[in-house]
Order: sequence, then C-alpha cells, then structure tokens
Amino acid sequence: MGKRKSAKKVQKKERPKVMSKFDCPFCNHEGCIRIAIIKKAKLATVKCTTCGQDWATTVTALTEPIDVFCEWIDACEKKNQEAPSHGHGGASSSARPRDEDKDDEDEDEDDD
Ligand SMILES: [Zn+2]
Repeated sequence: MGKRKSAKKVQKKERPKVMSKFDCPFCNHEGCIRIAIIKKAKLATVKCTTCGQDWATTVTALTEPIDVFCEWIDACEKKNQEAPSHGHGGASSSARPRDEDKDDEDEDEDDD
C-alpha cells in the first residue's frame, strides 16, 4: 500500500485589478459604462456609452471607479423606490397569469 500525498493545491490569486468598465444596469450591455474620476474637482461621472445614461457624484481622493459604480447602482435603486410612478418592470398584481375557461359541459343523452 502506497501512501499518496495529494500535494496539488489550487491557489487562487486574488489580485486587485482595476476595472474601468462596468455593465450597465439599464441596457444590460457589458462593459459599456465609463467612469471618469476628476480628482481635482472631486467629481466622478458615470456614463453608459450604449444607452446614454449618465450620473455624477462627488468623490474623495480614495474613491475608486468601483466605488462610484456601486454608489450609482445604489442611487438608481433608491430612485426607483422613491418614484414608483415611473413603473419600471416588476410583476404587478393586476396581471393574471391564468384564465380558466370552463367549457366542458357537454351532456350527451342517448335515448333508445
Ligand atoms: Zn446602458
């Protein structure tokens, strides 16, 4: 009987990578979001190159594009919650998925 040492270890290296492209939550296109951080003005702008959505926020020296993106998503969700009149997707209770038609009442009477 031989002893086997399973020496194989899959190491996942997590290195911080700078993402400059993000997916747009509005048009669902991948990598179409451009985030620009203007540190001098402490301002960051988000823009979708596909559907044209844009947004701006203030940043600090430590703010990274991903932070801006998350903030944007947050802001969008809040906006959606605050303004329900803008009805954007979501299942409404008024829609009935099924309509049951009872149409099977046929009585045959055979008299012989
Ligand atoms: Zn878009």
